[in-house]
Amino acid sequence: MVFPFKSLSDYEIRTRPEHEAFRNFVREFMEKEVAPLVTRIEERNEFPMELLDKVGAQGFQGIGVPQEYGGQGGDQTSVVIFSEETSRVCPALVTLVGVNGLFTTPLQLFGTEEQKRRYLAPVARGEKRSAHATTEAVAGSDVAGIQTRAEKAGGEWRINGRKAFISGGDLADFFVVLARTAPPPGPKERWKGLTMFVVEKGAKGFSVARHMEKMGLRGSHIVELQLDDVSVPEESVVGKEGDGFKVAMETFDHGRIGVAAQALGIAQVVFEKSLNYAMQRTTFGRPLIQHQMIDSYLADMLIRLTGARHLVYWAASLADAGRTEYQLAASMAKASATESAEWIAEKAINIFGGAGVIVETQVERFLRDVEITKVYEGANEIQRLVIIRQLIKQTLGVDVLQA
Ligand SMILES: Cc1cc2nc3c(=O)[nH]c(=O)nc-3n(C[C@H](O)[C@H](O)[C@H](O)COP(=O)(O)OP(=O)(O)OC[C@H]3O[C@@H](n4cnc5c(N)ncnc54)[C@H](O)[C@@H]3O)c2cc1C
Repeated sequence: MVFPFKSLSDYEIRTRPEHEAFRNFVREFMEKEVAPLVTRIEERNEFPMELLDKVGAQGFQGIGVPQEYGGQGGDQTSVVIFSEETSRVCPALVTLVGVNGLFTTPLQLFGTEEQKRRYLAPVARGEKRSAHATTEAVAGSDVAGIQTRAEKAGGEWRINGRKAFISGGDLADFFVVLARTAPPPGPKERWKGLTMFVVEKGAKGFSVARHMEKMGLRGSHIVELQLDDVSVPEESVVGKEGDGFKVAMETFDHGRIGVAAQALGIAQVVFEKSLNYAMQRTTFGRPLIQHQMIDSYLADMLIRLTGARHLVYWAASLADAGRTEYQLAASMAKASATESAEWIAEKAINIFGGAGVIVETQVERFLRDVEITKVYEGANEIQRLVIIRQLIKQTLGVDVLQA
């Protein structure tokens, strides 16, 4: 026994030759189509729509979605490869594409056939864009604390409330929106009585209330959404009425591996840039790489980068094998990769010296970007709660939240 797993074989990373071919394909696309535009995206805080359309047309919004619903098929390892390679060039693009996953995942897992045809397929084909609206100004980590309400009136639901921090909400055609549809039965069951709905852009009473400026991931926007008596038909419920908490949590379980890979891509590119700079920059008559203190930074960067890579691809392998231990691994991967990437990006600035804080060097932007990966899809404090909860569940069969 290799606690908390059974044997070393449980830690295997499984990839196939198609995965490497896919990595090469994504890398080539990102370097050719996206890299030349990154400076412009950063300066304008705007992603060119024609580029987003190209990304959609490549099928990148449909990775992991079955082909019968317009997707590319593929597994979690492919999702991770896409995120890592895209982030190596433009982390904001991972968010712009990834938010579609926060819409397609609940539909894939819980949607009706009609919902899959109507909403999942056009998003997977890249014809429509989507967003996920759970968070509110009053409740982020504490999802059960949301105040958006939905009430049944005749054959439809009326939704009222305000959502905050919604990535891609300014561009989306379709949204999943979490609302409370019944009071919780008691203080220990606050997660009960929530329901997830699909809401379409243009629905009466549904609007983008304001843009929220943030420190990084420029080009991908977050907005507040206002819902004033928004009517949606009964068929808009995703999963069962009252099961919205489960729908949201299972969606985030799938999504956090993509964020871990986004951080991994940041760590990778920043390490490559630092190594390159240390070989070229001379101080006191020798290249930086011949100063032991700089070598120590670079070696520690590689140690953390490699550790994070193992966790991220291991978690993806567990997901692809259908193993429940995936949840534990994905939370470890998310916390480790995002914090390693932060450390690596900070050390990169030490290695670059003054050039590191100059915008045109394109190092400081990765530090700004990585800070966001620590927060969204479950802040790292919450990942640590998940890790211990899953550990106890996996090893003792006890759910500490229910106990
Ligand atoms: C750029 C960006 C994009 C986002 N995109 C989306 C989106 O598309 N859709 C969406 O629904 N949401 C989105 N979010 C929201 C994001 O998921 C939340 O910000 C996140 O879950 C944290 O919630 P909060 O900001 O309310 O922090 P809070 O929940 O208020 O937490 C504040 C701090 O306390 C810690 N904390 C909270 N509870 C505990 C606890 N029990 N134990 C220990 N520590 C705790 C947190 O980890 C955090 O460090 C986005 C956020 C950002 C920044």
